[in-house]
Amino acid sequence: MKIICIGRNYGEHAKELGNAIPEEPVVFMKPPSAMIPLSGPITLPSFSDDVHHEVELVYEIGRKGGKAIPAKVTLGLDLTARDVQQHLKAKGLPWEKAKAFDGSVYVAELRPSMDSFPTGHHIEFLLKKNGQVVQSGHSGQMLFDVNTLIAHVERYFALENGDLLFTGTPAGVGRLSPGDRLEGYLLGELLFDLAVEAASSVG
Ligand code: ZN
Repeated sequence: MKIICIGRNYGEHAKELGNAIPEEPVVFMKPPSAMIPLSGPITLPSFSDDVHHEVELVYEIGRKGGKAIPAKVTLGLDLTARDVQQHLKAKGLPWEKAKAFDGSVYVAELRPSMDSFPTGHHIEFLLKKNGQVVQSGHSGQMLFDVNTLIAHVERYFALENGDLLFTGTPAGVGRLSPGDRLEGYLLGELLFDLAVEAASSVG
């Protein structure tokens, strides 16, 4: 199973980090071993003081008639060690230490097929930190929609059943602290409620 992520897919988020609007999708990956258990918690790594939450629509890839399709949908977190990422970006180095570390990815329970969403309907989602909405967005705000992303990714990487595609985060990313609580809502439904802990805390 591969976890493929798209960066800078919402204009307002690209701007908040001072990045240009991309001309083609920005693609990176995380290993399956980076996955946080379904019930959490999020454990902040000891090597960063600035781990950011990025809530994203996540699609599970299926295949229909030999074609990769977005078969299921849910919410995920692309946790990012922003301090490490800024340092790597400044030196033109790869992002993996900032994006693919152990405990850097969360995927909520997958929802049934996209067929249940009417065509043209935007999938709305939001993230609350300690009860306050910090990020909200919908699928219609993506610079590249899911089918465009799949077609682009497939030029480089074969997509297989069960692969996960993170589609980028809307504006409002921010730092996590031990004791924070993150709730993710998809179409108004609570999909996850996760505690945030320091690396040293036990249990
Ligand atoms: Zn992201």
